[in-house]
Amino acid sequence: MKFDLHTHTTIHSGCSRLTPQQLVERARAVGLDGLVITEHDAQWTPDAVAELAEQSGLVILTGMEVSTDLGHVLAYGLPKYLPGIYRAKGLREAADEVGAVLIQSHPLRLPVYVGGDFEGKNGHRMDDLLRKPILQLVDSIEIYNAGRPPAENEQAAELAEHLGWKGIGAGDAHTLDAVGACVTVFEEPIRTMADLVHELRAGRYHAAHQATSTQVRS
Ligand SMILES: [Zn+2]
Ligand SMILES: [Zn+2]
Repeated sequence: MKFDLHTHTTIHSGCSRLTPQQLVERARAVGLDGLVITEHDAQWTPDAVAELAEQSGLVILTGMEVSTDLGHVLAYGLPKYLPGIYRAKGLREAADEVGAVLIQSHPLRLPVYVGGDFEGKNGHRMDDLLRKPILQLVDSIEIYNAGRPPAENEQAAELAEHLGWKGIGAGDAHTLDAVGACVTVFEEPIRTMADLVHELRAGRYHAAHQATSTQVRS
């Protein structure tokens, strides 16, 4: 099953230009089986997401992209935004209490306050990357992010390989073009957040790119 695990909508992400309806229509048009809505520091209620899923026929789940002191982290399986999770350590503790999975998004992007850019044209030194404290606190990293430069994604994939992690692919969609441009393909069916968490832990998935523009008839 093909999923976009990282999407933003106008409902809770001020930076997104996608309404939930646009997101879902596009997801269907590019052949996704499901998606996870991961707003910035806010999580849709299961009821709201169930209503959207019912209308669309897709599997739609609710996660969150948490802004922490060590960067953005995708959280799958937390009940809602919790106090103290703005610190990556607090987020890890909260995740462990409920068995949630944490995946660092765009792991090589610099924080926005220093430009939000890829660190240098030649990339990072792998030794430096491997020493980053956030890697002790997450379960995996995003390796293909449709909004990041190809060279950055390549090095993120290399980093995951060094760590022995699969790494996910996702659109990080704030606009139509990004929806499903990078995906995570699961070997087993995913119907619920519990399924997703289970399969992420089991590592039965791989990240992929897809040429969405050629598949969409408008
Ligand atoms: Zn982010
Ligand atoms: Zn994002």
